Amino acid sequence: MSETIFDKIIRKEIPAKIAYEDEDILAFHDINPQAPLHVLVIPKRKIKAFADLEDADDELVAKLFKGASKVARELGLNAAGYRIVVNNGKHGQQTVDYIHVHII
Ligand code: 5GP
Repeated sequence: MSETIFDKIIRKEIPAKIAYEDEDILAFHDINPQAPLHVLVIPKRKIKAFADLEDADDELVAKLFKGASKVARELGLNAAGYRIVVNNGKHGQQTVDYIHVHII
């Protein structure tokens, strides 16, 4: 699997504004925000894309989506609401080959 900018962010080789981190996920602010608040949530175990999810990834999916819910709550977004977006592949406008959930 080819190296991405998100691999480097996880390893803290390039800086990112971290919103939340635990042993399973990392949430950080998008460098090019599409809204007043735009955070990306990624699993620490890398999967390239939504399309690659398999049965063995059930726990990862739960941690990723429940983690995104928790991050949004902690950022104070629940009252006003927000969008959750997962882009997949070329026509889905996925630009980074590391599965990620946008909180927008
Ligand atoms: P995609 O289009 O793949 O769903 O979303 C990738 C997102 O990663 C984009 O919104 C883009 O702005 C963000 N991004 C790309 N490079 C960096 C970076 O180096 N740091 C941060 N924080 N976000 C990045």
